[in-house]
Amino acid sequence: MDVEVLKNEQNVLKFRWHNTNSSLANALRRVIISEVSTLAIEDVIFFENGSPMSDEQIAHILAMIPLTSPRGKYFPPDKCEEAEKERKKCRVVLTLEARAEKEPLWITSSMLISEDEEVKPVNPNIRITKLPPGRSIKLEAHAVLGKGKTHAKFQPGIAYYKFQPVIKIDYKQCTACSICVTSCPRGILKMENNKIVVVNPDECSLCALCSDKCPTRPKAIEASYLKDTVIFTIESNGNMSPIEIVDEAISVFKEKFNNVKLKVLGAEKVAK
Ligand code: SF4
Ligand code: SF4
Repeated sequence: MDVEVLKNEQNVLKFRWHNTNSSLANALRRVIISEVSTLAIEDVIFFENGSPMSDEQIAHILAMIPLTSPRGKYFPPDKCEEAEKERKKCRVVLTLEARAEKEPLWITSSMLISEDEEVKPVNPNIRITKLPPGRSIKLEAHAVLGKGKTHAKFQPGIAYYKFQPVIKIDYKQCTACSICVTSCPRGILKMENNKIVVVNPDECSLCALCSDKCPTRPKAIEASYLKDTVIFTIESNGNMSPIEIVDEAISVFKEKFNNVKLKVLGAEKVAK
């Protein structure tokens, strides 16, 4: 199983995964979106809300603000007792207090003050509400660890894959009419020295417009894909880096299979 990293930017990781199949790729995708834990705001205590929005509306917006989530620092809410034993915590408190004086005031995510500097809004410019002049807001928001399978607010980002596109050109049939070049919506094909060339096959969407429009019979161009190679992409919301997301997903995978192994070995002992 070879892996070739195609892109590794702050919030995007793209890699080519050789000798795999759709079951494995889809399993990794599903673990990423549903089993990797991140922090998100779960409870909000309002002391004052002078905004035109209801408490529930503001709480909903707060819940959807992605928070940086240091790995291994917090325990999930159902393991608070365990967290205490290990002198760790299972929630982070963020406070917000502001007042609009003579002018209306936008309340943004940058105004959320966290008790842990490692846990803060990924984007400081998310607008929460607008206070009219003379009004105030004061609240306390509690963030906890959770998984995407319980609420989308906990998803660390999105993950998707496609099979490796392959574009074959039969140069004996090709008349270099360039219809396929102008038909391709992704600019994958180019005319060079009166010859069609494939510029960036990874970006091909397999729409088949090039072969549909090719006038030769049989078709001089065909777009297909490799069933054992996928291009896998992770776009992080910023809670953690895409590499940390993959690492965490694989740890979850291992833990799940380890549990199966222990149960199976236990059953084998009982049978003996
Ligand atoms: S299949 Fe679609 S995207 Fe791919 S090369 Fe042909 S026209 Fe372009
Ligand atoms: S449309 Fe067909 S014949 Fe025309 S350049 Fe493309 S591959 Fe060649």
